[in-house]
Amino acid sequence: MGGREATMVLMDENGKRCDGRTVDEPRRIMIKAGGLKNADGSSYIEFGDNKILVGVFGPRDVHPKHMSDTDTGILRVRYHMEPFSVGERKNPAPSRREIEISKVIKEALEPAVMLEKFPRTAVDVFIEVLQADGGTRCAALTAASVALADAGIPMRDMVAAIAAGKVADTVILDVNNEEDQAGQADMPIGYMPNLEKITLLQLDGVLTPEEYKKCIQVGVDGCKLVYELQKKALNDKYFGNKGD
Ligand code: UDP
Repeated sequence: MGGREATMVLMDENGKRCDGRTVDEPRRIMIKAGGLKNADGSSYIEFGDNKILVGVFGPRDVHPKHMSDTDTGILRVRYHMEPFSVGERKNPAPSRREIEISKVIKEALEPAVMLEKFPRTAVDVFIEVLQADGGTRCAALTAASVALADAGIPMRDMVAAIAAGKVADTVILDVNNEEDQAGQADMPIGYMPNLEKITLLQLDGVLTPEEYKKCIQVGVDGCKLVYELQKKALNDKYFGNKGD
């Protein structure tokens, strides 16, 4: 990312990307609400070749007790990648990257979750990445939001997420693994569509001010598409007789 030499053609002369998509075309996204019997809420997402399962537990007692807050509930998030989720086996020990992604997902969800309604308790979000192909933090954040709603946790809004980026000097939507490795920029965005607020914004790479604005616009538009699929997942479970 950001200066690494591209060894593959990321965009052909017709503006088609390495996986055949157009510049503003997301990968195939499938979201399912529910599925885990022992969790209070759960979801499963396929975001291109990413496959991620999320379980939500709580609000429940906090252990150890001194970690609880008398004024509000707390949110705890664990993002975990299975060793088999990537081509080269990942060490099962928690990596710095997993700790960072757990933190950014927690902070991206906090503005949406009404934790103040549940003082002294914790809501735990467990994210299991079964297969990774670039953009797992956005896919995981999207799925975590659905799992929280599935658990009946009161929320101000959903958080939908997708990455914008830059390859071959062109702003694109939904960066895949090849584009992440060999492209020029990757900008994950988490967005609350009704409140019109961004809760996650990261940037790996270099953009001009114009490209930066365009990435935000393309990313926010992408989040609105993702939000429709989050609503569909919840509607299918609760109103479509397709749920568990
Ligand atoms: N990845 C990998 N091995 C690792 C960590 C990541 O192959 O130990 C791949 C995986 O496909 C991931 C991608 O690199 O989705 C990009 O990782 P990044 O840290 O940018 O986070 P993400 O884009 O998944 O949010």
